[in-house]
Amino acid sequence: MDSREERLAKNEILFREINERIESMAHTQGEDDYVFEFICECSNADCTLRLPLTLKVYEATRADPSSFIVAPGHELPEIEDVISRGAGYQVVRKTGAAAALARDEDPRG
Ligand SMILES: [Zn+2]
Repeated sequence: MDSREERLAKNEILFREINERIESMAHTQGEDDYVFEFICECSNADCTLRLPLTLKVYEATRADPSSFIVAPGHELPEIEDVISRGAGYQVVRKTGAAAALARDEDPRG
């Protein structure tokens, strides 16, 4: 993985950590079907897009440490593949060295 790819992967890892905090606050309010505003976990550090997601969708993505939730079109084919799409979001899975980095940095250990 070159330094550019590493930097891009690290941006996504940072966004994931922010979403983990949003999610833990959301949990205190309960309701899996309630929609919360998570942030786009894409590789663009300047992206501030909000993704309205239920906790159920968020949790299903988080179950795989190499998967991230991004807005449609925000995937980066160099380091990830789109594995599923939903209303206003898509799930990407990291490939190669970016996947290893994402797993190493998994906030859920
Ligand atoms: Zn984005």
